Order: sequence, then structure tokens, then C-alpha cells
Amino acid sequence: MPALPLSALENASEFHARHIGITAADEAHMLSVVGVASRRALVDSIVPRSIARASSMRLPPACTEAEALAELKTIAGKNRVMKSFIGQGYYGTHTPGVILRNVLENPAWYTAYTPYQAEISQGRMEALVNFQTMVTDLTGMDIANASMLDEATAAAEAMTLARRSVRAKGDTLVLFGDAHPQTIEVMRTRAEPMGLTLKLANSAAEWDAAIAGDDYFAALIQYPASSGWVQDWSEEIAKIHAKGAAAIVAADLLALTLLKSPGEMGADIVIGSTQRFGMPMGAGGPHAAFMACKDSFKRSLPGRLVGVSVDVHGAPAYRLALQTREQHIRREKATSNICTAQVLPAVIASMYAVYHGPEGLTRIAERTARLTAILKAGLTQLGFSHHHHASAFDTLCLKTDDATDSIAARAVQMGANLRKAWDVYLCISLDETSTRADVQLLWRIFAGDGRALPDFATLEQQAPALIPAELRRASPFLTHPVFNTHHSETAMLRYIRQLSDKDLALDRSMIPLGSCTMKLNATSEMIPITWPEFAQIHPFAPADQLAGYAELDRLLRDWLCQATGYAGVSLQPNAGSQGEYAGLLAIKAWHASRGQANRNVCLIPSSAHGTNPASAQMVGLQVVVVQCDDNGNVDMADLKAQCERHAADLACVMITYPSTHGVFETQVKELCEIVHRHGARVYLDGANMNALVGVAAPGEFGGDVSHLNLHKTFCIPHGGGGPGVGPVCVVEDLVPFLPGHATAQASGSMPAPAAGDGMAPGPRVGAVSAAPLGNAAVLPISWMYIRMMGADGLTAATEVAILSANYISKRLADHYPTLYASGNGHVAHECILDLRQLKDTSGVMAEDVAKRLIDYGFHAPTLSFPVANTLMVEPTESEDLAELDRFVDAMIAIRQEIRQIENGTWPQDDNPLKNAPHTAEALLADEWKHPYPRELAAYPVASLRRLKYWAPVGRVDNVYGDRNLFCSCPPIQELA
Ligand SMILES: *Cc1c(COP(=O)(O)O)cnc(C)c1O
Repeated sequence: MPALPLSALENASEFHARHIGITAADEAHMLSVVGVASRRALVDSIVPRSIARASSMRLPPACTEAEALAELKTIAGKNRVMKSFIGQGYYGTHTPGVILRNVLENPAWYTAYTPYQAEISQGRMEALVNFQTMVTDLTGMDIANASMLDEATAAAEAMTLARRSVRAKGDTLVLFGDAHPQTIEVMRTRAEPMGLTLKLANSAAEWDAAIAGDDYFAALIQYPASSGWVQDWSEEIAKIHAKGAAAIVAADLLALTLLKSPGEMGADIVIGSTQRFGMPMGAGGPHAAFMACKDSFKRSLPGRLVGVSVDVHGAPAYRLALQTREQHIRREKATSNICTAQVLPAVIASMYAVYHGPEGLTRIAERTARLTAILKAGLTQLGFSHHHHASAFDTLCLKTDDATDSIAARAVQMGANLRKAWDVYLCISLDETSTRADVQLLWRIFAGDGRALPDFATLEQQAPALIPAELRRASPFLTHPVFNTHHSETAMLRYIRQLSDKDLALDRSMIPLGSCTMKLNATSEMIPITWPEFAQIHPFAPADQLAGYAELDRLLRDWLCQATGYAGVSLQPNAGSQGEYAGLLAIKAWHASRGQANRNVCLIPSSAHGTNPASAQMVGLQVVVVQCDDNGNVDMADLKAQCERHAADLACVMITYPSTHGVFETQVKELCEIVHRHGARVYLDGANMNALVGVAAPGEFGGDVSHLNLHKTFCIPHGGGGPGVGPVCVVEDLVPFLPGHATAQASGSMPAPAAGDGMAPGPRVGAVSAAPLGNAAVLPISWMYIRMMGADGLTAATEVAILSANYISKRLADHYPTLYASGNGHVAHECILDLRQLKDTSGVMAEDVAKRLIDYGFHAPTLSFPVANTLMVEPTESEDLAELDRFVDAMIAIRQEIRQIENGTWPQDDNPLKNAPHTAEALLADEWKHPYPRELAAYPVASLRRLKYWAPVGRVDNVYGDRNLFCSCPPIQELA
């Protein structure tokens, strides 16, 4: 046999076959089932000719995993890892190895979906209840949610929560000037379109005057202050309450192990970041922020809240509580637009608290505080004075006057970053990683050459404590056994494993969630995120230390422009919802720049995702609903009528494409033209880009703005409900209205944008996230994906995703009809299975099928979105044919079970669907009173006998939990 040429053995596209589950032979079989000749022909028959891409994407050619990793390593190497003493909300932390490997780097945790299906999510919800308990304990508040996107957006959400909840009617929020600058900036961006005013109090006198006023509804305090000082705020909070206004405190959880809690001072809302509980700085994210509040504020609390309820057997079980399930149903009345949050970082922070416990956390905090006190004593000897507030926890602010720049420069030369503040100050923050050597390094930096250094041993004995005695925390925290049990590594390892074993993630089975694109998160894509060159970087480090991130940003933005046909992209929004918000701000600012600030109507089809109207409401747009026709498409007559009715005030229309009904609407181009004719813009929700990449580009066929969900289409894992990245993409004339980041520019970490670089964050729209690159540390995942796939691979992925959806729709057609399809019967990359008629024939609801799928080992498809009592299935390109068939066969077997109800064999209220999921405990009880065999309940298909996922709880009672709201760790005997 002649040897193959070397070039045939070098396979740059070898990753394609790892990412795409379907082989050539599978594809031929699937095409024959769907009834088309080729994949190309299928796609041509589905994607309207009028929108098909004219040219292919200009991307680097595909490469192997090893090549991509090597290339990215070179880019990462352009970041410079230095010691960071910058603080300002971001601190060094040691991620315990057992948590790093078994949570952050473990697909059982990072590939899970948001816990909407409670029975298969008990593990991550237990971790989130630990998180909530940790936050309520440390802040001294009544209730806390399960994470916010970052500290700055949490502060902005606290502002709106206060606005909804208090008596005071003014439009002003008093903002403590010594808050983190990025928090102030993001709050400004948020306040403006809501018609709220921020009154910044930059001195004690300004503060006193402001809170003596009658025009404000809330005041925000940072504790410790951004520059480090602490005081008891009780009296100030009482004054704020006397005005009927709310007191919001931005707090640091590590400091709160030593300090009197904001709750004890009377705070109404407490927010902050949990970053320093084990999440690397990662150039600004992802980290879990938190929000806690008084009981009286809880019904308006934004974000998700996990609560304790009971299952059908009366056993305690967790589920998402209250408005968090209804959030999207409330649409423009929703309390916030948050959908994807920061679950994985929240799990890590909670595990950090479980591992260290109250004593371990206190030791870390005491060590940090002690080193800070010693540092200060030495700096005092060297002649530097701490600013007028003598108190501190971990941060000192030193008046350095003319020496400010030279000391900062010397610090960089010696491998350390300090924070320059208010021109003549240098701030130093210590943290968990700080050592004696660091303190001595800082003394050398401040001393300069030839000066005698303080003696550490002497100051260690003499340095006075910087936390005033009366501010010392006296109240206990983290007293629950979960925080006092798992302190050996063995115990911790097993606790983490115990929780993840309760959950169903992508590492066990497909998760066919429509609209959520649960595709492969390849290991090679994940590896770079914990490289120190990406992980150990402060977001406000000098720009030259962030050069690797800048290159990553530039490349990724270029590639996403190629994928979408847009001219400019910002990676700053840290979830799809935030991309929507930023995109709508751009549209508003553009209208305003043309003297048409009056344009405030946003048309949204009835089928839209709930975040769309929620985002529109946040930027002050008035939502007008456009109807859909019987085929599920936007009703063009209604659209035209609404455009005409609101012609003078029309700002934009917000559509999803392909639609949330899983269909490529043929008239989308015409729709865009109509909207443009009325002087308005088209916001095209890009959550369904997995049906478009390489096939059609929204920026070419009429969209003006889109957000992408990199955690859907571009392989960032869902992490159990975050982190996400929601880049906002715009056409040329909207580029100047992308979000800026004045804080990053002022700190010298981000160069001012150059004209024509497709970014141009002008002064016109402020920051929408705390950090300039949002969840920067997960961007390498999408970079790796695009780099390894290349243009052909990405296009093939889209086509296979479409083929797989059509295959499932076709195979299930006789059992569950697909609700909406295009004229030729085809769907896009997902299909809605219509279960509505089963209610009359059998009493079965879509939810019962969803729960029965758990017994078969599957995560349910999307339940009742966008149409009630349906299941929306999105298989993605990453599943292989065997898994698609296993799912289809399960669905068909369930349909046969439903027939047994229809023909009267089983009663409507006692059958394998209504009683699903079946726990091992229920099946093994001595008594079995149901009219169907246990075996059928447990092993409806033979393969389950050998490999079975057992749900840890039976069906969870949502109503009970909402009536008896309980959102902290339950007493241990209840769980026994
Ligand atoms: C997921 C999704 C969103 C929201 O994105 P997040 O990243 O969860 O904030 C918006 N629109 C649609 C259609 C979606 O599927």
C-alpha cells in the first residue's frame, strides 16, 4: 500500500469532529429521515435566500487543539502578572486546590444549566443556599439572593430596588463619594435613562447636607470606604430613615468577619462582591456579586433566590423561589432584566466559606488586618501619613503629593501595582495572599534608595490595631453545621462530590433546552481560563500589563464582527440581558444625538423572551406588543400598523431571529426595511445565533444592534446559571454609542480608543459593567472555539445544529407535532413540540413529560417558553446520533405511556408521568400502591438497568415553598 502523503495525515480540522457529534454516515442517515438530499440543500430550503450570506467569514483557518493552546499561550504571555495592591474591589485570593479542581475545572459543575428543573438541581441549589446563608450571616440581613453580575451593577439594582420599595418620593440618590469609582460610573449610566439623579457627596460637609435634604429616596455608603476607612454608620442610617429613604451599604464580606455588620447598623440593602472568596481577579470577572435586604424588601428583590420547600413525599427540597421563577413572565414589569447570573462563581465563594468556616475566614481577615496595621506603622516611620481617617481594615490611603507618580513608578519597577487616587494619594490594599515579605517590599518602595527600613519584628509588637474597638464584630456568623464540618480536604472533596452527584449536567446526558444552546464546552477551551497570565490580573492594572487581554479583545471582536456582519462590538456586558441593555442605550443615545430624544417606543412581538421588555423598561422605553399570526410569525399587518401609529415616537423594534418559535421568518428583511423607513432601528436578539453563524449575518440583512450570548453559541459553559458574556454588536453609525469605561481610562488600564478601531467608547454612553471587559477571564473559551473551528467548521456546526433539530422534529412528528415550521415543514435549530392536546385526552401536561424524562435520565427541554404547555427542543450540533436517538426513543416511550392513560389503563392522577420523577426511596418502600409496576417506573428502557440517574427528591412543591419562604440553610435535622 502506498504511504499517505504527510499533508493528508496533518489534519488541521481534527477538532471539528470532536465538537460536532454527527459523522458523515450519521448525517446521511439523518438526511434520509428528514427527506433531503444534502445538508446544503436542507439549509438552502430553510434559510431565506434574501438573507443568505454573500461571502464567507474571514477567519484564521482551523487549527488543532495543541496549536490553538500554543497560540493563546503566546497571547496570554503578553499580560504581565505583578503583585497587585490596587484593591478597589479586586483582591488577591487563594482558590483552594480542592475547589479549583473539583468545582471550577469540573464539568459536573460548569456544564450544568440554571436550576429551573428543581429535582435534578438539588446539589447546586444546596451550594447556592449556602451562598445565601453566608451573605445573610455576614451582612446581618434577613435575606440574600443567589448572585448578582458584579458589585457595580448590584449597586445599580439596589438603587432601583430602593426606588420601588420606599416611601420617599424624590428622584435623587445620595452617593457617598468614597465609593469604588466603577460603581459610581455604572450607577450613573443606570440612573440617567430612569430619570434619577445621583448626588455625589465628596466631603463630610457635602454628605451631611445631602442626607439632611428631603429630595432623596436612598443613600449609598461604601463600608469599608474605597480608600479604606471604616466607621459606625448607625447614626447616619437613622437620619436617612428619618427621611423615609433607604440606606444601601456596599460592603466587603471579608471585612465583615471582623466588623460590626451593616444589618446591625440598620441598613436596608447590602451589596458587594464575593470575588475575594476564592475567585481569581481575572481582569475583572467573572465573580459573584451579592444582594441582601430586609424582609420588607424581599418581594422586589432582583435576581434568583433559592428557597427550601418540600417534595411530594414531604421531604425538604430546594427550588427557585418567588418572583425568580416569574421574573420573565412579568416582562416589562419585572424587577430587573437579570437572567443568566453568576452561579459558578457563587458556588465557589460558598465552597470557600464551607472549607474555611467562620474561624478560617476570621484568621484570614485578622492576618490581613494585622499586616495592614504593621504596614502603616512602618510607613508612618518613613514619614507618610495615612489620610485623615485613622481607621482601616486592609486598605491604606497615603497622601503622597508630588511623590505620587515617582513612587507608583518605582512600585512597578519592583513588580508591584499601587492605586493612584485623587491625584495626590496612593492606596494600598492587602489581602489573603499578602505576606511579611510584601509589607517589607512596600516599605522599600516607599522608602526609595538609601533610607533605613523599619524593623518588622519591632513593629509587629507595637503597631496599634486600625479597627476601632467599638466597631469590632460581636455577633456570630456561619454557625450552621455546613460551615463547621468540611474542613479537612477529604471531607471537602466528598462534600463537593456529594452535591454534584445529585445533579444532571452535560457530562451525563444531552440537555436539549431550546433557546439555551447547551453545546459542548470543550476541555481545551476551558484550560486557559485558569492560566495565571489570565487569572491573576487586576482589571485596573497599567495597560502594558494587560496587553494580552487587549489582543484577545481585539481578535475576538474582529471575529465576532465577521460572524455577525456588524461593524463594532463591545465585550463589556456580562450577560445577554446586559447586552440588550447596552444595545438599547446605544439606540437611545443615537436618537438623542440627532435631536430625537422623544423617540421612546419599542415594539416587541408577543413571543419575545422576557428579558427584552425588561431591558426596554430599564432604559425608559415604552413597550408596545406586536402580535404574532397563526403560524407564529410576527404579524406584518400589525407591525405596519404599530409603526404608523407610533411613527413620531418610534425608537426601535426588538425581534429574535430565527424567532423564538424556531422558525426562519421569510419576511425579516422587509420587516427591517419598514422599521428603518420610520426612522427607527432594529434590535435583533442574537440568542439564536447558533442557527446563523456562517449562514446569515444579522448586520447584513437589516439588524442594527444585536447581543450575542457567548455562553450559548460560543461555548462558554452555563455554569449552572452563569457566568455569561453578552457582547453588544452594532452597525457603523452606532459604534460611537457602545459602552465606554471612564474608570479604566482614568486608571490607565485602558488606552483611550482610537478612531476606526471598531470600539470607540465615546463619552456618550457610560460603563454597563464594573470592569472594562466584563467577565474577561472566560473570553479565552470563545477565542479557542472560533480559532479551532475556523469559518468552515463554524458553518458546519450551524448546519448540523439545523439538521439535528429537523431530524428530531421529523422522528417525533407522529407522536408530538411540531407547533411551528416554515412552509416546507422545516424548523431552524430548535423545534417546539406541541403537547397541549394531551391535557384533554389524558390530563398530562408538558411539565409531567419533563419530569418523566428525569426517570429516563434526561434534562427536560425548555418548558412552556415561548408557548405554554409545550416543550422546545434544541439538540445542538455537539450531540451524536446515538444520543439524539436515545432522547427520541425516550420521548416515544413516554408517548406510549400517555396512551395507557388515554385508554384508561392508568388513572389520570396516578400514573408514571404524574408521579415522576421516582426516587429510589419511593420505589424501594415495602408498600407500592400504584397501578403500574415499579420496574416500569424505574427502568422504562432496558439500558437504564445498568446506568441510571436517580433523582434525590420527588416532585418539588413550589407553592408550599412560596407560602413558607425560607432561604437559608435548613436546620440539619430537617435534612436528616
Ligand atoms: C438566553 C436569552 C436571553 C438572555 O440572555 P442571558 O445571557 O441569559 O441574560 C435573551 N433572549 C433570548 C431569546 C434568550 O434565549
